[in-house]
Amino acid sequence: MPVPPDTSRKAPADWDDPAAWGPTKTFLYLTLTALLVGAALVALALLIFAPQRPERLLGPGLVAAVALVGAGLVQAGRIVSARWFLASGVWAAFTLVATFTGGVRAPVALGYPLLIIMCGWQIGDRAALLAAGATVLAVIGLAMAEMNQWLPGAPLYLPAMHASVLMVVCFLGAAMVVLLVKAYRNKLRQLHRSREDLRRHSGEVESSRATLQRAQSVARVGSWTFDLITNQLELSDETRRIFDIPEVRQGDMAAYLKRVYEGDREPLQAAWAAALRGADFDHEHRIVDGAQVRWIRQKAEFEAGPDGAPIRVLGIAQDITERKQADERIAELAFYDQLSGLPNRTLLLDRLKQVMAAGERDASYSALLFLDLDNFKTLNDTLGHDMGDLLLQQVANRLMGCVRAGDTVARLGGDEFVVMLAGLGTGEAPAAMAAETVGEKILGALNQPYQIGSHDHRSTPSIGITLFGGGRVEPIEEPLKRADLAMYQSKAAGRNTLRFFDPKMQATVSDRAALETGLRAALVREELVLHFQPLVTGAGALTGAEALVRWQHPERGLVSPCEFISLAEDTGLILPLGRWVMERACTQLTLWAAQPALTHLTMAVNVSARQFRQPDFVEQVLAVIARSGADPRRLQLELTESLLVTNVEDIIAKMTALQAHGVGFALDDFGTGYSSLSYLGRLPLDQLKIDRSFVMGIETNPHAVAICAATISLAHSLGLKVVAEGVETAAQRDLLHLGHGCNYLQGYLFSRPLPLEQFEAFVQSR
Ligand code: C2E
Ligand code: MG
Ligand code: MG
Repeated sequence: MPVPPDTSRKAPADWDDPAAWGPTKTFLYLTLTALLVGAALVALALLIFAPQRPERLLGPGLVAAVALVGAGLVQAGRIVSARWFLASGVWAAFTLVATFTGGVRAPVALGYPLLIIMCGWQIGDRAALLAAGATVLAVIGLAMAEMNQWLPGAPLYLPAMHASVLMVVCFLGAAMVVLLVKAYRNKLRQLHRSREDLRRHSGEVESSRATLQRAQSVARVGSWTFDLITNQLELSDETRRIFDIPEVRQGDMAAYLKRVYEGDREPLQAAWAAALRGADFDHEHRIVDGAQVRWIRQKAEFEAGPDGAPIRVLGIAQDITERKQADERIAELAFYDQLSGLPNRTLLLDRLKQVMAAGERDASYSALLFLDLDNFKTLNDTLGHDMGDLLLQQVANRLMGCVRAGDTVARLGGDEFVVMLAGLGTGEAPAAMAAETVGEKILGALNQPYQIGSHDHRSTPSIGITLFGGGRVEPIEEPLKRADLAMYQSKAAGRNTLRFFDPKMQATVSDRAALETGLRAALVREELVLHFQPLVTGAGALTGAEALVRWQHPERGLVSPCEFISLAEDTGLILPLGRWVMERACTQLTLWAAQPALTHLTMAVNVSARQFRQPDFVEQVLAVIARSGADPRRLQLELTESLLVTNVEDIIAKMTALQAHGVGFALDDFGTGYSSLSYLGRLPLDQLKIDRSFVMGIETNPHAVAICAATISLAHSLGLKVVAEGVETAAQRDLLHLGHGCNYLQGYLFSRPLPLEQFEAFVQSR
């Protein structure tokens, strides 16, 4: 902050300024020389013309003494003292000489005026006045003394002495004129130079002022100054433009405050008051001009006077409306869903955090309602995404109509919405009832028909509800997870309904999570094992084995694949698991090929849909075959009908590619999936495996017999062999094989799935 110059100190006069002592010194030396020469001449004249009065030598002696002492002072650089000493010394000498040599008529009196002028020049106006006053008093004293004849007798009139004094006085007068003229010329030159400098500087100041104004207009930042002493306010051009004030007038400050947005007035005044107490002033507020609202940022600093007290405020003003609008837009993009205008997940989590914190503090309950539209995908697929978007917007509007102003309705994405009901009181049961009431209201509202474009549409939601708060501390995602689970419960309960979160479901989810972690570890620790179940011909000859995976759990013992295969499919763990099974089965095939009793066996390996859909599935299988050295003609891959739901062309291509290497294919669990008979003819299959559920009822249920018989004849007509799974009794075997010509059989009647050693022993024992 600039500090103004200290005006209380006077600028030094020229005669006190060592820089200006050049001419002064010259003049002093001249004076000293003149005094010495004058004194010498007078002394000479006295010695020649009045040797009988040696006491008169006292006068020139005195002057010479003063001159010598003065010279000493000048030599020592004590110019100020030298001037004072010379002026007073010479004056005193003159007065003494006048007194003792004849009063005012004494020629020395001629020196008085010169001395007075000299004092004025060399010392100052006061010294000149002093010298003049003293001279007047001396003259009056001398005149009176003379009148009363107190003075010595009439002076000896000495022309030579008079002449020498006159010469010295003339010489000094001329020297003084020359030096004075010289000094004043210098002064004039200096003045001229200063005027030029001033003109140049004011030009520079004007041009930097113009540059500053332009810079302000480019940067859209104006400046202002406020003089706290005179209350004068100065605004730059840009500031006037920003505030729309053409001219600064009295009362502008008050008028400006009236234009400030009502809600911002008090904070602005408070900030200003704080600034006057020394706080930083950096404030944003709105001003209202008719329908237009603009954001202004003001920042100011105080300028202190020499005593540290503030004397001026320097401030800047900036129109930040555009930046504020951009900020608002960014916030809107970051926190709101663009389609529905509802808060998005980020904002919901933020508000949830606040409500949870309040619930922890005051033990109040709040509720989360998780909504998912039933069959929304169908609408999207049939009428297109634009229509889907229209429905979502209408749902958003209806949801907003079902809640109070303080509640939050958010869209998580897709057709998922969350409603947060905050502050439902401290009783759990009343809070649950309140949440249920709102849930019912939402169900009713969303069940009303929708007008989507020209279509009448019906849509229903499934709603999951959970309470949170009530003094309970939990991670922020927990209530959301619970509401989500409850929503799945309401889907499972037939949709278009609401369900509260059920802790049993939580237990299932936790078990699944534990199972997943365990399975992951099992893969690493190699806790998986293969069991082999024999496959026999109708005549009882053993032709092959199906490899079935088990988990040798360290605590639970042998875990059935029914418990973990679907989880492995959901989590993707089926991929490493499937690769391991394939690897083990093929290695086993190679080992059996080396043993005469086992060499003829085929190996059936189950392949899950997710595994088969991997783009490099064919390459993976071929690589395993190559690595293990297994005979691909002895390998049979079992696929399930669930695979056939998508992209049949790709499936056929993969099957054909593997079949070209001799790999065979069976369709497992036939009859339980969505098999379309039209695919059966197109897929390069070798076998069909009738599901156990049909075989099970074959002895008692005529329908089961009919299905088995039809499946077998269909398969045969398509050139496929048939395997019956789950054959447990001889009657089943006979009915299937003898009665309907089923080619192969598999089931507990022959053997359960066996560990490797037992299976090999079983084969060799036959
Ligand atoms: P699946 O492929 O249909 O296998 C036949 C299942 O029926 C086996 O159950 C087997 O033990 C059982 N089974 C065989 N004969 C009888 C019988 O006479 N009576 C009864 N009640 N059951 C019989 P498991 O071993 O529990 O396997 C269940 C399913 O797990 C398999 O059904 C298969 O879909 C899947 N699975 C097993 N291992 C694997 C594998 O390595 N990969 C894949 N992706 N799935 C596998
Ligand atoms: Mg199977
Ligand atoms: Mg099966």
